[in-house]
Amino acid sequence: MNLHEYQSKEIFARYGIPVPQGQLAASPEQARAAAKQLGGEKFVVKAQVHAGGRGKAGGVKLVEGFDAVEEAAKKMLGQRLVTKQTDAAGLPINSVWVEKPSGIARELYVAGLVDRSRERIVFMASAAGGMDIEEVAEHTPEKIKRIFVHPAAGLQPYQARELGFFMDLTKEQVDQFTKIMQGLYRIATECDASMVEVNPLIVTTEGNVMALDAKLNFDTNALYRQKEIAGMRDPSQEDEAEREASKFDLNYVTLGGDIGCMVNGAGLAMATMDIVKLHGGKPANFLDVGGGTTAEKVTEAFKLITRSPEVKAIFINIFGGIVRCDLIAEGIIQACKQTGLKIPVVARLQGTNMEKGRDMLNASGLKITPVSDLTEAAKTVVALAKSA
Ligand code: GDP
Ligand code: MN
Repeated sequence: MNLHEYQSKEIFARYGIPVPQGQLAASPEQARAAAKQLGGEKFVVKAQVHAGGRGKAGGVKLVEGFDAVEEAAKKMLGQRLVTKQTDAAGLPINSVWVEKPSGIARELYVAGLVDRSRERIVFMASAAGGMDIEEVAEHTPEKIKRIFVHPAAGLQPYQARELGFFMDLTKEQVDQFTKIMQGLYRIATECDASMVEVNPLIVTTEGNVMALDAKLNFDTNALYRQKEIAGMRDPSQEDEAEREASKFDLNYVTLGGDIGCMVNGAGLAMATMDIVKLHGGKPANFLDVGGGTTAEKVTEAFKLITRSPEVKAIFINIFGGIVRCDLIAEGIIQACKQTGLKIPVVARLQGTNMEKGRDMLNASGLKITPVSDLTEAAKTVVALAKSA
């Protein structure tokens, strides 16, 4: 689960990490009032969306005067911001963060995340922070230094200093940076953050180290014990289809291809996506309807898959172990009728009552092709999607 920048900065401040002063606003008038309260001439207006890359997409504006703050907020609020990190539809801007501007001498980068293969937290730092860190990582990886934190020992000050000196910080700045690192490490461990990112971490014109941006991501499996953080969730920033799916207890992930997949069991779902890819297709989603699924759930799953206009064909791959194939067939037929389905469906039903299920699909008069062999089914659906 992600947080907004302003929420992450609030947590930063609590853990002793210096951040600029700012205020949240949900309307242009509130933005003006926020600026007045902050005081001064110049302000930064920042769109609050769950994605980076806002600077280059017009979501971060440096302005002068209260009118300009109001104007900038007016232009952002109610719009959707499309950045390199969002899809083409972008994310809704429901609030802006009005901040006192900082004088920037240097833009650095620091981030911590869980390195699963090493089973420990890794911190990465670079003097080449700012808006192009992805390019730095790709083209000049030697500009990024990593340290690995032993879980029993915790982050050692010498490790933080190592990163600090790598970024050519002065002695005083290294001390400030070490405190920031300790704060980040405590957030990672005490708040179950799976990623803490500061980009840019700046050296101000006065020579102090400060977090200018903040990005936190949390392990959803730990949210049960992070009640406060769980309460900061903003569903408006999450994938609509995925949000809808969670209402019906369906495991659904949007993927962006053109073949909708409906499968029972996570393992079979992954194998299905693999075989679709193997035969040159691109899955539009991962969807596990669960073991003891019902006709209603199948209907909801169908609605989810077909809400994306990119989906050109649907692949149903169900193993009737706990669930009966005739029940699935009933759900499919119901869903096709309810959604007025126009795109072709390839259905592979195996297991309990599979003959009955297949007969029902055949008799339905709908555009459903029953195929019993997995490879053949995958080839068929890929061909149907390509010819659409
Ligand atoms: P992101 O593009 O979504 O990662 O948003 P950031 O919060 O990182 O802001 C993008 C860029 O805007 C930063 O790298 C800075 O160059 C610039 N910026 C943001 N806040 C300030 C500020 O207070 N003063 C100045 N001079 N530049 C800022
Ligand atoms: Mn940033």
